[in-house]
Amino acid sequence: MSRALIVRLPNPLGDVVAATPLLAWLRRRGEGRRVLAAGRAPALELLDGLEDLDGLLEIPAGAGVRAEARILRGAGAQEILLLPNSWSSALAAHRAGIPVRAGRGRHGRGLLLTKTLPRIRRAARMDLLYLELAGALGLPLPPREAAPATRLAVTAEGRTRAEARLRRHGFAEAGLLAVSPGAAFGPSKVYPVELLARAVARVVEKRAWVPVLLGSPAEAPLLRRLDEALQAEGVRQRLPTHEEPAGIAELKALLERSRVLLGADAGPRHIAAALGVPQVVLFGPTHPGWSSFRTERLLPLRRGDVSCSPCHKAICPLDHRCMTRIPPEEVAFAVLEAGS
Ligand code: SF4
Repeated sequence: MSRALIVRLPNPLGDVVAATPLLAWLRRRGEGRRVLAAGRAPALELLDGLEDLDGLLEIPAGAGVRAEARILRGAGAQEILLLPNSWSSALAAHRAGIPVRAGRGRHGRGLLLTKTLPRIRRAARMDLLYLELAGALGLPLPPREAAPATRLAVTAEGRTRAEARLRRHGFAEAGLLAVSPGAAFGPSKVYPVELLARAVARVVEKRAWVPVLLGSPAEAPLLRRLDEALQAEGVRQRLPTHEEPAGIAELKALLERSRVLLGADAGPRHIAAALGVPQVVLFGPTHPGWSSFRTERLLPLRRGDVSCSPCHKAICPLDHRCMTRIPPEEVAFAVLEAGS
């Protein structure tokens, strides 16, 4: 029987997308290993439909190290690649008794690993950092320029849900502008909703697109505020989702149907990129170098004259100038460019 390898996924959805080149590479050059992805339910749902996996191991939200170790042990794997840099993920793999445990050294967790890659100290592409883990198994690595691109699949179930929602609201034939204002990282990444609404209003004056407002259930209050701001701007045709949030499968399908994604530097922009949808992304407190993959359809907007950026702080200690100084007219122009 072939060897089983677990890939422990990170939790942030953008990082899960960044892991897809590693999964594709393991399928191609993994010497017949059975590859199992382990992670939280949203991460697994995001990967649903990809052909690069032989199985999924759900680690319930809130599961402690002992519970996670039990789930990992039950898979009977001989190897595990740890994509999160947390101490707890390494401890769970160690307690599961998996013989080969590879990950980055951090927080002294090298003691729990059998193969430790160096800690990363400067901004570097997450997809390539994850790919390097294949080398810890003795597998060849692709040259940088030949690394697989991030990739996701939209499922039939997701499409059915998205189409049903669009039909219910009378937008079955409409062109969509996906707008994802939120970021789990923190409010520092969020463009003020009044400015965002003004930008979207300028776009829909020129193109008959319907803004579809996307975000996680935790972002419902932000989506509601954006919906109200759009109403105040006179945008009558819009599709809010805060009362009935789209799950991951439907989110992928709605993004696939969109002409452009406009949003924060967060998960949806990486999902859109992996689906080949143009993205206009507002960067502020974070260094774009971490996420500079699958950029062929990305229009980044960033103030170059803000000396405190990138600060990588979740909450701005100043006046949020990295975001507030991006004019909505510039945002609207970028969206129209991206969608032309
Ligand atoms: S400190 Fe500067 S870079 Fe950081 S969030 Fe505030 S304005 Fe933006």
